[in-house]
Parts: sequence; structure tokens; C-alpha cells
Amino acid sequence: MRVMAQMAMVMNLDKCIGCHTCSVTCKQAWTNRAGTEYVWFNNVETRPGQGYPRTYEDQDRWEGGWTLNRRGRLQLKAGGRVKNLLTIFASPKQPSIDEYYEPWTYDYENLTNAPLQEHSPVARPKSLLSGEDMAVRWSANWDDDLGGGPVLTARDPVLRKVSEQVKLEFEQTFMFYLPRICEHCLNPSCAASCPSGAIYKRTEDGIVLVDQDKCRGWRKCVTGCPYKKVYFNHRTGKAEKCTFCFPRVEVGLPTVCSETCVGRLRYIGLVLYDADRVLEAASEPDERKLLAAQRRVLLDPRDPEVVREAERAGIPRDWVEAAQRSPVWRLIHDYELALPLHPEYRTMPMVWYIPPLSPVVDAVQDTGEDAEDAGNLFAAIEALRIPVEYLAELFTAGDTAPVTAVLRRMAAMRSYMRDLNMGRTPDPSIPAGVG
Ligand code: SF4
Ligand code: SF4
Repeated sequence: MRVMAQMAMVMNLDKCIGCHTCSVTCKQAWTNRAGTEYVWFNNVETRPGQGYPRTYEDQDRWEGGWTLNRRGRLQLKAGGRVKNLLTIFASPKQPSIDEYYEPWTYDYENLTNAPLQEHSPVARPKSLLSGEDMAVRWSANWDDDLGGGPVLTARDPVLRKVSEQVKLEFEQTFMFYLPRICEHCLNPSCAASCPSGAIYKRTEDGIVLVDQDKCRGWRKCVTGCPYKKVYFNHRTGKAEKCTFCFPRVEVGLPTVCSETCVGRLRYIGLVLYDADRVLEAASEPDERKLLAAQRRVLLDPRDPEVVREAERAGIPRDWVEAAQRSPVWRLIHDYELALPLHPEYRTMPMVWYIPPLSPVVDAVQDTGEDAEDAGNLFAAIEALRIPVEYLAELFTAGDTAPVTAVLRRMAAMRSYMRDLNMGRTPDPSIPAGVG
């Protein structure tokens, strides 16, 4: 056993309201510079949607991440360490600025002075790079407006006669927000794909950083990261990425995105893991077993043997105690509520998510029954507006069983807390129903 410490994060998606405060405060802190206009170390995606950069999950299109070769060994999809210049230039599968967006701003003079017209806003967006007027073709969260169904306005007599079919279409529409930062992976493919050795994982806390002095601008990390969380600064010619706010973390402050999160949904904590088991877990041939494999890599910080090995590895005692108190560890291990994003990318991501339960209330409200009653919540999980299959594609490589288990546990907790808050005796049978 080789014990190492890792900074990790869990986000509770039920609480995200898509306000982008996290993105903006992060940008103000870290990427408020020329060359990083399109760079969002923290972004908040509309789901379902194409993500940022657009279609980054289409791994066949971009390459990136790890895959198993024919002998069952783990290898980089992007080709691993690059052998020669030709290989570098022959591997151009990187998102273009169109897959991100061309940064733009409003022509504010026109916006504020233009005469009132029938349609608004009347000002055209202006490119931040060239200053030209531009038709915006794509931007983050475009998906918000693509939920389906026509726009209904009370003034329009045709649309007021909404058909049953259209009503159904609206009722089946679902949406939630997915905030994303770099995953600070245990098996970071960005680092493995860098020909200059400029990307490294800090031994003390696992934060993945780019050494700006060593970076030669090959951009193999952009290709190699399956989450597309390394960005290229076109002014400096260097790669940049989320730093997990290490200068703040080192003095005991939370990351900017966590501190400013309006929904208070981000939990930060130290976890301990067995570095000897990382590659074995990442090479698990059955994608659906990757969640369990990744959970096994994390060590119980209360286990006396783990504590001993941590001390032998030079991990300070107060760090071990911090790991024992870590909400991240509890949410992943004790409560089994948190799930990793796309474990099938095999990089062992360290930002985990509690999948959203909210629409379960909508799923039963038409019945007139108490939507927060545990029985109804359990039943409604089967009829969730957010299909369990969709959540499973995001968090468990398509395996619906762990997602359903998490949702049932969340439903039980919600019902239990509601009973307590209403002054009722909580139903003791609920935990048994959760399993
Ligand atoms: Fe590297 Fe972060 Fe991408 Fe993981 S998510 S491969 S640590 S840039
Ligand atoms: Fe979601 Fe919090 Fe970011 Fe707002 S600040 S978008 S609630 S993660």
C-alpha cells in the first residue's frame, strides 16, 4: 500500500441554480487576462446539452483519455508520449474556437441609446478579439434555449391552442446544471500526453498543474484530456488549467468557486488513496465496474493500518485527521451518494457529483398525493423526468443500478428530514427501503 493524499470535491447537483457566480468569480481571479477570454477553468453546463467545449464528450471525434488496448493494457487514446514532431502535428484533433465560442460583448452605446423597437435587444454582439460585429453561432449554455416545444405567448392565438402533443413535449422536457472544473485526476492523461513534462501532479495534495516555464505549447494536453479542461493561451503560447486555487488552499481557504457558490453545493476535502492500485483500477476491463474500482482505490482514513502507512509516507498527522473529517470521503464512502463524472474515461477523476433528484416532485405532483412522502418518492424515481439512464451515462458508464440506489437514498433522506421539520416522527421503515 502506497498512501497518498488528494484534494477532492463533491458537488450536489440538486442545489445548482446555474447562476454562474462560480464561473465569473473564478474568471476574475484566474483568467481575467488577454489570451484567456474564452477560458473558463470553471464552467456550468446545461444538461442535457453539448457541453463546453461543444461535444467534448464525443471522444471518437476528439480522442483523449485512456482506453484498453487489445492486450487489455491501459493506453492513451491520444497516443501517449509523443515520439517525434511529425506525430505531434499529425494529431490535430483539438477543439477550435468555434467549439468554445468567440468571446463577444454588446455594443453598449448602441444598446443604451437605440430607439425602442418591437424586438429587443437590438444591439448586435461585438467580437472581443477583432471588434467586428458578429452573429453569435454558439456559446456556452445555448442549450438552455433548446429545450423543445414552440415558444408560447398569450398574444398569439394560434399558439394558445396548444395541442396535447405539445403539452406533452413540455412536460417531458428536463434540464439541470452541471458545474465543471478540472478533475485533478489520479491518472491524469494531460500529464501523460505532455511531450515537455510540463504538467505534473503535486505529490502532497494531488493538484494537477502546468509548469509555465516548461510548457512549449504543444497542446497535446488539450487533446489528451478527455474532459477538455486544459486551455491554450494564444497570447503566451502556453497551456493553462484550473489550479484548485492552490495558493488559497495552502493557507486554509476554500477554492474561489466553492466560497462564492450561491447554492452552497460544493464540498472540498482531503481523501487518502492507494497509489499502487490506481493503474490496476483504471484498467478494469468492465466499464460498469469502474465505479467500484475507483471507490476501492480510496482508503478509509479511520483504518489504523491506513493511518500507519500514511505516517510512514510522510503525510502530516493533521492531514490524516482532516481526511477523517472530510465531507468528500463521507459522501463517497459512508453515504455512497457521490459518483464520478465519466469513469469510463479511466483517468480516475476526483470531482464527484451527487445526481439531481429534484424533478421527482414534478413526477408525482399531478396525482394530488403528497409528493414528499417517501413511498411516492421511491415510486416516482422510476418515472423521473430526468431519465435514470441519462444520469447513468454521465456518472456510471451506463449502469443504472448505482444511480437508482443514490436517488432512493436521497429520497429517503428528504422524506426523513421533512418529517422531522414538520414535527412528525420519521418513518423508521425508510432506511430499510433504501438498502
Ligand atoms: Fe488533466 Fe484535469 Fe483533464 Fe484530468 S481533468 S486529464 S487532471 S486536465
Ligand atoms: Fe451552481 Fe453554485 Fe456555480 Fe451558482 S455558483 S452556478 S449555484 S455551482
